[in-house]
Amino acid sequence: MRKTLIILISISMLFTVFASPAFASKNHPSTEGNTNMSSILTYDDMINELEKLEKKSGGELEVTTLKELGYEFNQSEQNRDLYVAKIGDGPEKVWIQGRIHGDEPYGAESTLKLLKKYVNNQSPENQKILEELTLHVIPMYNPDGSEMNIRQTELSDSGKRIDLNRDWAEDGFEAVESKAWYSYWADVQPDFGIDIHHQGLKEDAETGDAITMSLGVSLAPNGPTLPNLEDGLYNDVTRQAQVHVYDSLKDYGYTNIDRYTVGSSSSGFSEIDIHGGVVSAMMLGLNFNGLNEEEHSHPAVFFETSGNTRDGNLGQRGRGHNIQQNVLGVHNLLHGLATDEVYDADPERWDEIPRPEINGYFTDHSGFIPLD
Ligand SMILES: [Zn+2]
Repeated sequence: MRKTLIILISISMLFTVFASPAFASKNHPSTEGNTNMSSILTYDDMINELEKLEKKSGGELEVTTLKELGYEFNQSEQNRDLYVAKIGDGPEKVWIQGRIHGDEPYGAESTLKLLKKYVNNQSPENQKILEELTLHVIPMYNPDGSEMNIRQTELSDSGKRIDLNRDWAEDGFEAVESKAWYSYWADVQPDFGIDIHHQGLKEDAETGDAITMSLGVSLAPNGPTLPNLEDGLYNDVTRQAQVHVYDSLKDYGYTNIDRYTVGSSSSGFSEIDIHGGVVSAMMLGLNFNGLNEEEHSHPAVFFETSGNTRDGNLGQRGRGHNIQQNVLGVHNLLHGLATDEVYDADPERWDEIPRPEINGYFTDHSGFIPLD
């Protein structure tokens, strides 16, 4: 069973992905346009870097677009090609996505850095990952939003803005990017997923220290939904994965990690249990348009780096550190999956990762659910 688990890695995207509009406005003061974007990776930068790495890899890294793969839906709303990079020959498939929210750039930079690491460095650890896993890496899920420096994409006919991390729902799939990436996901049938996002600047409620990164699961562990999936398997595996990441990062000097929550000390904190997000739909085995009739599903986790372009500040500790903690977090998780060490972790230790007291679950299916 473990061998069939695909890790969907989407790193920083859930905080902003799953926060309600009210939370979003609270957590993300509108400073849009006030950030110096000159150092932020563009769509063309991404293509150049992918092509450079592909050439250097001598065939090990395959860079392709959904158009080249022949998908019916294969470009963004503004007709940008959708890029995916594949590396590794292993039986276990891991989906890693960055920048589903256009104004959260580190997902793209982190995934490109990760690919560079595997192309350049043939250490035994990296070799183990590439022997046991096949990585499907999407550095820029939302190229239009990235170029516009906005969270969403914009429908080409109406101009309506769509949060792509709410669009994998029965009544969703309004944006062509969602149809395109879903079709690819349904064909790949990953075993695990990782999603990379950014959150607003955040402090530890008790110590006042800056939190550099939050670890999350978009269907709350021990919450209303996750324990009921696959006889509780995903409730265990997602917690094991994050405990593994926490243990592997907590001793680095520049990381300060907690569990992801939404809210504030004045309004109270809650965990998210959102069914319409991309990585949630993957865990729920969403069958859209008959493309996933077997209702394939897999566990998935997300990382939230602190700081985003809406805050006009990409993190107190600096851009390099914020990117590097994602690279290390994803790499350590991949190594744990490749060696099965992830499954040695005690899922109950999830509770050891710091988190403010919560009063319930913020959901998109049953409103707010109080803890008791
Ligand atoms: Zn996000």
